Amino acid sequence: MSDLLLADANKRLEKALKYVAISEDAIEHLKFPQASLSVSIPVRMDDGSLKIFQGYRVRYNDTRGPTKGGIRYHPNVSMDEVQSLAFWMTFKCAVVNLPFGGAKGGITLNPKALSRMELERLSRGYVDAIADFIGPDIDIPAPDVYTNPMIMGWMMDQYSIIQRKITPAVVTGKPLSMGGSLGRDTATATGAFFAIETIMSKLDRLPQETTVAVQGFGNAGAVVAELLSQAGYKVVAVSDSQGAIYAKQGLDIPSIRQYKLSSRGMKAVYCQDTVCNSVEHESISNEELLALDVDVLVPAALENQITEANVNDIKAKLIFEVANGPITSAADKILEEKGISVFPDILVNAGGVTVSYFEWVQNRSGLYWTLEDVNQRLRQKIVEETNKIWKIAQELSISMRTAAYVHALNRLGEAINAKGTRDYYINGKTY
Ligand code: NAD
Repeated sequence: MSDLLLADANKRLEKALKYVAISEDAIEHLKFPQASLSVSIPVRMDDGSLKIFQGYRVRYNDTRGPTKGGIRYHPNVSMDEVQSLAFWMTFKCAVVNLPFGGAKGGITLNPKALSRMELERLSRGYVDAIADFIGPDIDIPAPDVYTNPMIMGWMMDQYSIIQRKITPAVVTGKPLSMGGSLGRDTATATGAFFAIETIMSKLDRLPQETTVAVQGFGNAGAVVAELLSQAGYKVVAVSDSQGAIYAKQGLDIPSIRQYKLSSRGMKAVYCQDTVCNSVEHESISNEELLALDVDVLVPAALENQITEANVNDIKAKLIFEVANGPITSAADKILEEKGISVFPDILVNAGGVTVSYFEWVQNRSGLYWTLEDVNQRLRQKIVEETNKIWKIAQELSISMRTAAYVHALNRLGEAINAKGTRDYYINGKTY
């Protein structure tokens, strides 16, 4: 799957290359990860045995600044996957003009099979193994799938022990009490909401007349559903891994969130508790949710959800990718032919890394911002970059995805060229 991800990412890059005046040197640079580290992490398990886990950290490209990217704990983590995700982060940071390059990390494991203490020993062991590879001016990890603020706190603490000085800016997504930023927990969804608002106003669409289906009801999906519902959008369907619920007249998202917090599945919370009676609804499958005839579809669960196999069932007019890579490039092509507009992950979910950047800035300055400050700066950034990408898409008559890659490539190309290219040395040409 990871090979597919990287191949898919590269296809999107190739499409965008046609529209940029970028040096061959820059293209050559972007084809390869700058540095890839593979580590074996010994962990003393609760039963006294010793187990070795495989971990990775990849710094894809640091031309625009220290590299930035999450750490994933998952059984499918491999070097290929981490390299692909680091490539994506390079473009995402450039899209929102953060002074960062792209990175990613991960450990191959099923985190649910470890006790809390084993997870702590593993997380600290990972930092011991990669400590020379990361740092506030080198590479700054953050949470990703199955890692959370507590794990980031352990990692920051371990790095500080190694350095013999408190170093909060080495990791973002930390607990507030350890230098985390207000608004980081909801940043991805809030950024996605700002992107959706910006696009909807360009399309002259009113929230009250817009129906929405959200796939995935986790950290990102549940908050996006709630923000949209608060803004007046009619959120008619939501889902989690166990199934989906649909109500033509719109769902009561705050109640669903409240029930979901008690960690029960979507179907159970909605159909076995009192909220079930508050609105007429029906249980549907996840496949049915993706195929609903809604105005807006928000995939916010996993990668590769819309593929050649189900793309012809999609009826939504607009798709906002909150998840990373939910649409394969083959499906993307078909959606474009069908006139369905896709707003890409590297813009729509960039709120998370943007507030991670704000956290890093706050850690380095020692001055902490209010939630209003964080959200106002986030809104400014997402609206500004959405407008720029929209303009590129209109001027070149290309999709928003290709426009986002063009936008990122221009910034990356400029930075790579600034260091000098063969054109500069041989022909005196600057870009
Ligand atoms: P999460 O683990 O909190 O939530 C994932 C949700 O998806 C859960 O509700 C789960 O039940 C549901 N799900 C899993 N399989 C499903 C399926 N087949 N159909 C429907 N729902 C399914 O994860 P998250 O942090 O919300 O991340 C979701 C996506 O957003 C991921 O692709 C992630 O990479 C991306 N993302 C998240 C952040 C962030 O800050 N949280 C930032 C950028 C991108």
